Amino acid sequence: MQLSQRITGINEGASDGWGLFYMAREMVAAGKPVVELTIGEHDIGTAPEVIRAMSAAAHEGQTGYATVAGEVDLRAAIADRVQARTGVPTGPENVVVTPGGQGALFSAITAVADPGDDVLMVEPHYTTYPGSIRATAARPRAVRARAEDAFQPRAEDLAAAAPGARALLVNSPNNPTGAVYSRETVEGIAQVCRDHDLWLISDEVYDTQIWAGQHLSPRALPGMAERTLVVGSMSKSHAMTGSRVGWVIGPEEAVAALADLSVPMTYGIPAYIQEAALFALDQGEPFEDEVAAPFLRRRETAVALLAQQSAVRALPPDGAMYIMLDVRQTGVSGEVFAERLLREELIAVMPGSSFGPAATDHIRVAMTVADDVFAESFGRMLRFAARLKREAA
Ligand code: PLP
Repeated sequence: MQLSQRITGINEGASDGWGLFYMAREMVAAGKPVVELTIGEHDIGTAPEVIRAMSAAAHEGQTGYATVAGEVDLRAAIADRVQARTGVPTGPENVVVTPGGQGALFSAITAVADPGDDVLMVEPHYTTYPGSIRATAARPRAVRARAEDAFQPRAEDLAAAAPGARALLVNSPNNPTGAVYSRETVEGIAQVCRDHDLWLISDEVYDTQIWAGQHLSPRALPGMAERTLVVGSMSKSHAMTGSRVGWVIGPEEAVAALADLSVPMTYGIPAYIQEAALFALDQGEPFEDEVAAPFLRRRETAVALLAQQSAVRALPPDGAMYIMLDVRQTGVSGEVFAERLLREELIAVMPGSSFGPAATDHIRVAMTVADDVFAESFGRMLRFAARLKREAA
């Protein structure tokens, strides 16, 4: 029996970009001591007090169907947090709770693009973006951000691509580049959206991980609240990746439509998990700072080690939990580098090609293992790169 083009087309018959990650997981399952610097997941688990809140809610009976769009107290807490961080008036009517940021991305794209519509995305981009756009039957169209611009997209490049597109998907702090979009970049993005009547989907799941510069949500700029859907998540900010709690923030009418989508898609997020998310949000900024702190420490370690070598080049990340390395001086592509690093050194990283053709000369290192393991494996990776560079010379 034939499957729909929509579902078979999600990855266009090619890799979904996670191949090396799957390979590393198989090696781990076979007992190999692989250091995994692939997926964006904290080395600490979800905090015990958050799990206790989850368990208590379940024991108290919150095991039935939950309110489909999200419990109103959780939506109010998310709205309050967003309003406090951005200054944009936001209420529960502007929030729909989704299964993670990924569910929010799929919902937001579905809400603004019809089948066949073009959705622009900035490349390098998070691995799932093209598949998420195709899964809605829309078409991804990439606009390259350039390494020489520290991966800040240029307004003129976005404007040149905008005619005929329905929406623009951006992500700051950025995975994989670590770029935090400057005010000038965000203003340029907003201008292009207003000029070309585009919806903006702003993926801000790393908004608590800022190491340099300042996070500016484009929704806060004039004329943008009515055309912006913000994607948020508890995954990165509260170390709750497995709980699958995220949200879309947007105009009331769009949020009501998104709630309609939640009925056939999920019929709601488990109430005991929503209760745990509410508890975690109630802990405030000190909790978020504690979750983010290890990534800043490891960033400093990486920057210090990078300064002592010349085999790879990198821009220190301004935000998020990754560092992207340009490996072209080693004489191999990011893909070959990552594969050899895994086989020869048992260190798993993501090849840049997982983030689009603009990143094929790169690898992305997730700073997601304990400090000492990170320092040792990052140093070993740089020595491996130096060896390849010598061999290539
Ligand atoms: N957006 C970006 C840029 C990400 O890097 C991720 C996860 O790595 C997500 C969204 C989705 O995260 P989650 O579904 O866990 O909230």
